[in-house]
Amino acid sequence: MANATQVLQELVGMSRSLGRPERDLVILGEGNTSALCDDSTFWVKASGTQLATIKESDFVRLWLRPIRELLDKGDLSDQEVKEAFEAAKVDPSSAKRPSVETVLHALALSTAGAKFVGHTHPTAVNALLCSTKVEEAIAGRLFPDEIVVCGPAPAYVPYTDPGLPLARAVHKALLRYMDEWGMPPKVILMQNHGMIALGNSAKEVDSVTAMYEKTCRILLGTFAFGGPHFLSEEHVMRIFTRPDEAYRRRELKLE
Ligand SMILES: [Zn+2]
Repeated sequence: MANATQVLQELVGMSRSLGRPERDLVILGEGNTSALCDDSTFWVKASGTQLATIKESDFVRLWLRPIRELLDKGDLSDQEVKEAFEAAKVDPSSAKRPSVETVLHALALSTAGAKFVGHTHPTAVNALLCSTKVEEAIAGRLFPDEIVVCGPAPAYVPYTDPGLPLARAVHKALLRYMDEWGMPPKVILMQNHGMIALGNSAKEVDSVTAMYEKTCRILLGTFAFGGPHFLSEEHVMRIFTRPDEAYRRRELKLE
C-alpha cells in the first residue's frame, strides 16, 4: 500500500476536485472525505474546513479501531465523542478536530472495505433525497453507465441525527446491503442529507460521485415526461456481469 503521505496527497487532490464550485456538490464547509493510510490508521477531514481549498494540514490521522468501537459503546454525549476522537489521534499534539462524521468514514473504510471515501451534498442528489417520493424514485436503475460506475443499487438510510446515531444507521444499512448483494455498495444515500461515494481509489470516488450526480439529474428530468422508466432486473444484472463492462470498469480504474 502507498505510504501515508502519498495517500494524503491523493486525498487532497480528490477533495479539491469534489469541492470545485462549478460541480455543485458542496458549498462552504459542506462535505468531508477520508482515506485509509494502512491497516490501522486513516486520514479524515478536520471540522470547519472547505473542500475546494483544503490542504494536507486540514486532515487528521486517526487510529481506526477505537473509532469503530464507538459503535458498540451505547449512547455517548457529544463531549464523550469529542474526547474519544481526541484519544484516537495518531499525533496527540494535533490541534485539528476530526469531522463530526468521522465514525461514518471509519465504517466505510472498514466494514465496506473502501480505500477512499467522499461525502457530499450535491444539489441534484439532495433534491431527490429531500422529496416525499425518494424511495420510489431510487427503486430502479436508469442507464448502463450508472450501473457500471455506481454498482447495481445504492444503499439507502432514512433520516437520522448526524454523528454516532447516523453512523449506526449506516452500519446497519451496509450490513443489510452486503447480505443482499454479496458486495459493499459504491453509493450510500442518506435521506434529507446527502451521498457517500466509496472507492478503491481517489479517482473512483470522484467518478462515482460524478456519475451518481448525473443519474439524479436524469432522474429529476424523467419526472417531466411521466416518471422514470427503469431497466429490468435482468438487464441490470446483465450489464453488471458482462465481461466487456468489467473491462471498462478496470479501464476507468473503478476496480
Ligand atoms: Zn453531510
